[in-house]
Amino acid sequence: MSLPTLDPDWEVRAAAFQTLEWLVARHGPTLEWKDIEKGFEFKGQHLYFATKARGIFRPKEMRGAALSLKTIIPRGGRVARYEDSQRGEGVFLYKLQGDDPDNRDNQLLQQAWKLSAPLIYFCAVEVGVYQPLWPIFIRGIDRERLECTLTVDDEMLTAQERGVPMVADARAIDIRREYVTVRAKRRLHQARFRLEVLRAYEQRCAVCRLPRSELLDAAHIVADREEAGEAVVPNGLALCRLHHGVFDTDLMGIRPDGVIELSQSLLDTKDGPTLEHAVKSFHGQHLHLPRRREDQPGQRFLVERYERFRKVG
Ligand SMILES: [Zn+2]
Repeated sequence: MSLPTLDPDWEVRAAAFQTLEWLVARHGPTLEWKDIEKGFEFKGQHLYFATKARGIFRPKEMRGAALSLKTIIPRGGRVARYEDSQRGEGVFLYKLQGDDPDNRDNQLLQQAWKLSAPLIYFCAVEVGVYQPLWPIFIRGIDRERLECTLTVDDEMLTAQERGVPMVADARAIDIRREYVTVRAKRRLHQARFRLEVLRAYEQRCAVCRLPRSELLDAAHIVADREEAGEAVVPNGLALCRLHHGVFDTDLMGIRPDGVIELSQSLLDTKDGPTLEHAVKSFHGQHLHLPRRREDQPGQRFLVERYERFRKVG
């Protein structure tokens, strides 16, 4: 499946990818629907990336395969958290539209598969928020299960752009794409974790209350062992960049009762206002915790992390 130059729409795709790159540089890895629905420009025309109602989309200006796929969320529903954790480590699973694998929408996917056309996958992080993944390729279509497998790549249209035929080592390409897909899934997972943690803390640092989400991270209390279960809000803290750094280097610890402690070496250091006010003044203060009990830090995480802080200290 590596005959990329047959795709009649590759210039449109290139324009779409370029606009996405710009959007992500500007807004970060997750985009709100309002940013996606604005679409992109191609040779003086205005095209859409996707529409609200459809999962599989091809603008009417394109002739061949689909341009994008989007997670469909049932009305009033929630985004499934680990929709793909059961099967397919190195692939995303995507449900075909309806019950007929040959209906119009699904044919756009079949076309994409045939042409090895690079697509965009707007993967829902939560309702109205998507992480765009591209270029994404259809790896296979399972007519029985009514689903297809997708892999992401990190090389964009390079063969077309350079006008050279793609080296047809399909197995090597597959292996690379599986690897890139695993990484993409991890990023997706982190994006969800960040959104949930920042919301629980009302977009403020748990130490200093700094209210700018651009400067906030979702810190793990106990390091994420890349197991889905650990990236849960009770294992997270919203921290500004400065306090995240102080916490991650164990210069700051949090007692299981939520009181902030600084390491003796930091307390012994004398310096200007950043250290004195922005760091040392929080010694002995309480963390600002989420209102909802189920969002508050879990005791087992706090105890484990505090032990480490004591040991390092
Ligand atoms: Zn802070």
